[in-house]
Amino acid sequence: MKVAILACKNIKDESCFGCHRCLTAFDKREGEFKRYKDNPDFRLRAILHCGGCPGMAPVNRLANLKTWMAPLGETIDVIHIGTCLTKNCPYKDSILAKVKEKAGVEVIEGTHSYMPPTIFGT
Ligand code: SF4
Repeated sequence: MKVAILACKNIKDESCFGCHRCLTAFDKREGEFKRYKDNPDFRLRAILHCGGCPGMAPVNRLANLKTWMAPLGETIDVIHIGTCLTKNCPYKDSILAKVKEKAGVEVIEGTHSYMPPTIFGT
């Protein structure tokens, strides 16, 4: 099974250090990836962003991902909506509705659960 993560463009840059948390959570099967704990066949294949505010392009970008993966005989079986998007995006409801309507696969809200309660507190 192949997994994609849809993230916030305002937070994710081209080589986003924040994606480390999604990758770590996936490898450790923590956060919303706990559901794959007993299934080593789930592989992370893509982290892509929404296309930018106000969330106009997540569907187009997922369609582009499908086209990009096709020559390798791969596809996406599950989409996780990144914690960066679910916790911060003012257009979250609209993005979720669009993705859920068009994805054709399960869409899960959230990825990692490593958000610190404060920035500098312990
Ligand atoms: S639409 Fe939401 S997820 Fe996309 S860049 Fe803007 S704030 Fe981030």
